Amino acid sequence: MPDSLILRVRAALSAIRDPASGRNIVSAGAVGGLSADDSGRVRFTLEVPDRDRQAAEGLLKAAEDAARSVPGVTGVSAVATAHSAGQAKQKPSGGGHDNPFGLKQKPRIETAGEALSGVKSMVAIASGKGGVGKSTVAANLAVSLAARGLKVGLLDADIYGPSLPTLFGIDGKPQMRDNKIVPFEAFGVKLMSIGFLLDPDQAVAWRGPMVMGALRQLMSDVDWGELDILLVDTPPGTGDAHISLIQSKKLSGAVIVSTPQEMALADVRRGVHLFRQTETPLIGVIENMSWLEGPDGAKQFLFGEGGAERAAKELGAPFMGAIPLFPDLRQASDDGRPVAATDHAAAKTFHELAEDIAKFVKLA
Ligand code: ADP
Repeated sequence: MPDSLILRVRAALSAIRDPASGRNIVSAGAVGGLSADDSGRVRFTLEVPDRDRQAAEGLLKAAEDAARSVPGVTGVSAVATAHSAGQAKQKPSGGGHDNPFGLKQKPRIETAGEALSGVKSMVAIASGKGGVGKSTVAANLAVSLAARGLKVGLLDADIYGPSLPTLFGIDGKPQMRDNKIVPFEAFGVKLMSIGFLLDPDQAVAWRGPMVMGALRQLMSDVDWGELDILLVDTPPGTGDAHISLIQSKKLSGAVIVSTPQEMALADVRRGVHLFRQTETPLIGVIENMSWLEGPDGAKQFLFGEGGAERAAKELGAPFMGAIPLFPDLRQASDDGRPVAATDHAAAKTFHELAEDIAKFVKLA
């Protein structure tokens, strides 16, 4: 259902003209990270001109209204990201309709200051769309890396749905020390989330400069101390300005999380291209929710078998492994105790994946 909903929303957004290019906002590559969840909630980013606030807000509102008018859409979270008038957008090659995420364009890299001092390596955990388990995987990998004795930080930069506070059962606002934000610490991991800076019920209706400002603050103003590895749970989607911002910090590597469905795999391809374009080393692809084990031990491949592994192979990207569906994982996550910190069957899978990452960044 979400995939056909995305197509209908994309069609509705195509009716809106991008004043900067004169083309529709979809083929102009202004819409990014379009995704829908099973309940019909739609999310996307929209690049708007940052010089003309009124025009930017008008464009965002028109896009929100168009998405909301599509039958089946129950809610819309749109985030405006800014592009300055001087930065004319390149025309996407190969026809805008194949390229709604604007990915054939070379992503713009924001320069956000020097590398994080004291942080030996930084790894992005990315996904083409929301709901594939990216945050769950990032949280558990962080816990597994810490269990190896490494000094680990986890930055939840998912502006749409920060989940780290729930996953680690943390409530409240972080303290400040010497003008820096002091991260929380749980299960041996230093934690910072954009969620700690937001009110829980605050609608995600960020305006472009706010998004960039908040991400910049998360990247630069947190007192991480000495870290062996910082994992960054990035917003879903590819090609967004905030991803470029994160990449400007010289990532040691990136991991792409996907489910086996065909639509998710198209996103894996986009992710691989994005990281290649920005010369970020690709650690590999993790397939999540790969199968459900029956009481007799037989595997049921609910979303198709081996899709992410095939896609990775096709793209020449390493396949790191598969994580099955654990029906009780959602509950464990809601309880604020990552399964990697327990004797749950999933823990071993996360430990193995964490070992691969540690080896990649030469910490094992
Ligand atoms: P994302 O960060 O990609 O949006 P989340 O990590 O928030 O996704 O996961 C979405 C939902 O799926 C959560 O409720 C999470 O508990 C559940 N989930 C993730 N991975 C698994 C898994 N392997 N088995 C069962 N549930 C999972």
